[in-house]
Amino acid sequence: MILDFSHDERYYFIKRTVREFCEKVLGPTAEEVDRAQEFSWDNAKKMGEMGFWGIQVAPEYGGAGLDTITYAMIIEEIARISASESLSVTVHNSVCAYPIQRWGTDKQKAKYLPKLASGEHIGCFSLTEPNAGSDVASIETTAREVEDGYVLNGNKVFVTNGGVGSTFLIGAMTAKSAGIKGLTIFILEKGMKGFIVGKHENKLGMRGSNTSELIMNEVMVPRENVLGQVNGGFKIAMETLNAGRIGIAAQAVGIGQAALELSSSYARKRKQFKRPLTAFQAISFNLADMLTEVEMARLLVQRAAWKKDNHKPYAKDAAQCKLVASEVAMKATTKAIQIFGGYGFIKDFPIERFFRDAKVTEIYEGTSEVMRIIIAQDLIGKLTR
Ligand SMILES: Cc1cc2nc3c(=O)[nH]c(=O)nc-3n(C[C@H](O)[C@H](O)[C@H](O)COP(=O)(O)OP(=O)(O)OC[C@H]3O[C@@H](n4cnc5c(N)ncnc54)[C@H](O)[C@@H]3O)c2cc1C
Repeated sequence: MILDFSHDERYYFIKRTVREFCEKVLGPTAEEVDRAQEFSWDNAKKMGEMGFWGIQVAPEYGGAGLDTITYAMIIEEIARISASESLSVTVHNSVCAYPIQRWGTDKQKAKYLPKLASGEHIGCFSLTEPNAGSDVASIETTAREVEDGYVLNGNKVFVTNGGVGSTFLIGAMTAKSAGIKGLTIFILEKGMKGFIVGKHENKLGMRGSNTSELIMNEVMVPRENVLGQVNGGFKIAMETLNAGRIGIAAQAVGIGQAALELSSSYARKRKQFKRPLTAFQAISFNLADMLTEVEMARLLVQRAAWKKDNHKPYAKDAAQCKLVASEVAMKATTKAIQIFGGYGFIKDFPIERFFRDAKVTEIYEGTSEVMRIIIAQDLIGKLTR
């Protein structure tokens, strides 16, 4: 495998354009979006004008049709300014639009992708339930077959975009006794009878992203809304999460990058003992470590994205980049607060927001422990082959 680390002019043009937009449009509202803990429809509309809701959707469905390396860069740039809004965007793109584009029928693609690409519909993907987190096989939501389709009953929790979404991918058991071989993914729509949004979660971080409970009470879903094969949902879910992890890792790189920039700029200006903080080796070594680790994480993201774009197996690479990038984001934001001293602990500076936002990157779309399981299984499988 040869990796080319140069990007073409188009990539840099998109990066400059996205950075300028994020700084000018998302920057001024980032603190307020976090404080209010509300999804900003105003920003969502502006992000729609930039094409952020259809980054990898094919142009024939109104998307930008960009590759995964460029997609990851865009998510990183959004997260560098407003991590919670990068979460709304990455979930919508990687784990809702992507699986519909990959496994949807022509009819499903024509119906859902244009609305998702424009941002008219915000997308969600939901597996997690009160008794099924890391253990997807424990999903209790059922899908009972009837003449025209399936009737869904169950409770989903922690659904990103759940309270603002219009298109939902929902994992439900069509054959409970078969475990993961009995899981099917259904496309649900806002307003279906019996499909209710429950409580909105009050969160430590990522507060500008909506996280809600979903309740399904005898929801009739037509047969044509099955995504892929009946009982074939586990494969779709796992492959969808592989793609999703590249987005979450890119988000974590953006958080790490923000921590690096904020703390290095502060350390240059802040003087103690008549010298800038950067004159103290304890501070400059921390900055050196942050830079090195953020760049290392970005390279792992790019490797996974490159493999995905080139149709190579990338499950291990996606797990590695998510594991590393999320831990780097946590370490970088912790170090950054230390560099800010007491000023890092108060809400006058954005670094405390990035610190709070970083934590969940080690948890969602598979925890760090689950990432290590995936990486170890890949390694052990190769050793025993
Ligand atoms: C803000 C937010 C947004 C989210 N968005 C979505 C979404 O859009 N869609 C969705 O479906 N879910 C979503 N989730 C859920 C998220 O994916 C789960 O929280 C995550 O998968 C972990 O599940 P759990 O919280 O039930 O923890 P558990 O699975 O109960 O895990 C608890 C702890 O035990 C560890 N553990 C579990 N099993 C093992 C094992 N076999 N070996 C070692 N350690 C283990 C875990 O790593 C963790 O440290 C979101 C969560 C949050 C907080």
